[in-house]
Amino acid sequence: MQMNVDKEAQAVDPLIFHLTGKQPGSGKDALAGKRPALLAAYADLTRLRYDFPLVLIEGKTAGTPVRSLSSVIDDLLQKIAPPGMESEQLRKMILRIEREIRTLAAASESGHLSELWDKVATRLEQADESFGKSVRIARAALEIDGAVLDCHAGMATGLITHLWSAVQEEKAQKFRATASRLAVKLADILRADYLRSPTGRSAESLSAAVGPAHQALFDFSAMSDLLPKASPREALSENRRRRIESALAVLKGQRFFAPAAGQPRPDQAAELYSFRFDNCAAAISAYRARLPELTELVKAMSIAELESDGAYIDGKHDVIFSGFDAGSLSPHDTALFPDYLITLGKDGASFDKAALMTALSSEAPLKILVNIDDLVEESPTGDGHIASDVRSAQLASLATGLGEVFVVQSASSNLYQLRERLQRGLSFGGPALFSVFSGVAAQAGSLPLYLSAAAAMQSRTFPAFSYDPSAGSDMASRFSLENNPQVDADWTVHAFEYADPQMQRIKQESAFTFVDFLVCDPRRHGHFVAVPRGFGIERMIPVAQWIAQPSDQSSDKVPYVVATGSDNVLFRAIVDERAISAARRCLETWHRLQEFGGVHNSHAERLLKREREIWEEQKRQELASLQPAAVAAPAVAAPASTPAQPAAATQPEVAAAPERSPDEAYIETERCSTCNECTQINDRMFTYNANKQAYIADIKAGTYAQLVEAAESCQLGIIHPGKPINKGEPGLEDLIKRAEPFL
Ligand code: SF4
Repeated sequence: MQMNVDKEAQAVDPLIFHLTGKQPGSGKDALAGKRPALLAAYADLTRLRYDFPLVLIEGKTAGTPVRSLSSVIDDLLQKIAPPGMESEQLRKMILRIEREIRTLAAASESGHLSELWDKVATRLEQADESFGKSVRIARAALEIDGAVLDCHAGMATGLITHLWSAVQEEKAQKFRATASRLAVKLADILRADYLRSPTGRSAESLSAAVGPAHQALFDFSAMSDLLPKASPREALSENRRRRIESALAVLKGQRFFAPAAGQPRPDQAAELYSFRFDNCAAAISAYRARLPELTELVKAMSIAELESDGAYIDGKHDVIFSGFDAGSLSPHDTALFPDYLITLGKDGASFDKAALMTALSSEAPLKILVNIDDLVEESPTGDGHIASDVRSAQLASLATGLGEVFVVQSASSNLYQLRERLQRGLSFGGPALFSVFSGVAAQAGSLPLYLSAAAAMQSRTFPAFSYDPSAGSDMASRFSLENNPQVDADWTVHAFEYADPQMQRIKQESAFTFVDFLVCDPRRHGHFVAVPRGFGIERMIPVAQWIAQPSDQSSDKVPYVVATGSDNVLFRAIVDERAISAARRCLETWHRLQEFGGVHNSHAERLLKREREIWEEQKRQELASLQPAAVAAPAVAAPASTPAQPAAATQPEVAAAPERSPDEAYIETERCSTCNECTQINDRMFTYNANKQAYIADIKAGTYAQLVEAAESCQLGIIHPGKPINKGEPGLEDLIKRAEPFL
């Protein structure tokens, strides 16, 4: 890449533009078709093996319902073409197919992995016959299939719906196993009662039980007479039979779970409930309307359990179940049933943020996905300032404040990395919010959505974090800054290389800031102007450095950002003050998140400082109490002929440290903090005195190298290694150099 300036950009005064954001004339888009320079390496994503596209695995998932295409192909290669000369050709072919599938997915071609594979393989085989047989072997070994999903606008919806379905299917399997076990037991009780009854033992009933094929072989009247008659005590009471029949009917008629594949639903059963919604109000209203039915089902299952165990006690349990209502449901009960998946903001649709917060406060089992495709907006005051889109970008932070909501915030580019966190949130017993930035809504000249989303996370505009109320009782257990890059730093910093106008290679580090994120969005290009010819680099400051200096500092310099276009020529653009202010606010928000995540926590740092001061004061007092004799001595020895300084003679003063030769090795023992660093290196050379402070006990008990190492390890810098005693010790020249700062 080469650095350049815009030769047409001469009419703009950089300082005035920076302060006012106004440029003469029509306001040319200086960044049209450009992207942040740090993204220059990602011109063609289809050539990269990265997290996308995804494969949403169908059938048996072994707890992994989603994989990256690359990981699926890696497994395949390992299986049929492990590294080695003989399989090199096959490896190349399979990797070529992977790249072609990635290209199809990037072009929004939908389909299952098997379909896309066949499509690509057929095309490649037509062009090159050598692809034929080998690739068919690979295809046969491909055991995984499912929809292929690239990082497009609907990716978050597709992925989270798929993961949600997997969680619901797990619940359905558990419910079906329990419900069918209970239904069989209840039916058995009723059947046994019927068979004992006069009707059950009648000739007609016995004949019907045998079936038409063998009816002629038996005398059912005689058989009926031979069977003993049941006593009334053995028959089910009317009350109990009705109770069991009622519980069985509720189990069979439930509308929450579909029967297992291939199993019919009862003829009269009402339509199954749907649990997918596109607005919160409808989901809440459905949840409330279904609550009585859910309560009846839980009650029926509880009765069925007691009945099947023969543990139902009429007097006791009748009372309990007569008052059983929605308030009797425990979180464990509701967790058995499907969660309501609500998808908001799909395809840029607006949604009611107030209703969202109300829904999250409801404790209903709602799993809400919010798709966000814009993170900044021009201020509603119309003054040209940039405002963070509080109503969208801050939703996750607001939900975290509710305390009992599972929250995940992430750019879509990072969702595969957070897949386990998503699964955990979808399995959480209460409400959960997934706030996902899917990249800047497609604009002419904007970046691929994957890059736009990744830029939001890299630039701290939309950092990833999660909040899991079930992880513990304190913030440290619940809050995680997840996998944000360089989490300790203000901005992420990356190595960057380019050629200057003299074609000299320049290597430097460059921060990726909120302003770089604005470069990714053509709608925000009004905040930039090209550097006019003749405006020297000495009058410009990179954005990160500019932001780090006090905001009120007057300067005749301006902040700039570096971008690049398809020609790979670097281009500096001057940034207006409104974009800088927005970047400062972005950084403040990031600092707050850092504190939540325990990074640069101001409370902890303040506490640490206070504790250090207390500790230092204690040490100072201990030292003072240990040196009374040394303090008193000069006062006593002071000559009588110094009356001009009587006060000084009575003032306590610290004994002067003995003059030391720089050649001598010693420790400033009275300053030692007993950290053990030196004694761990050599506990014969370094020993503690009675006051638990280190001194050099035997300089010959170790090497000069150990002395120097101890001096470098001592955090207080109080070990002075002096000059080596053993002039024959190897590596002395280097050791003496290392010792110099401590002499
Ligand atoms: S390394 Fe320094 S502070 Fe630590 S015990 Fe040794 S002399 Fe003391």
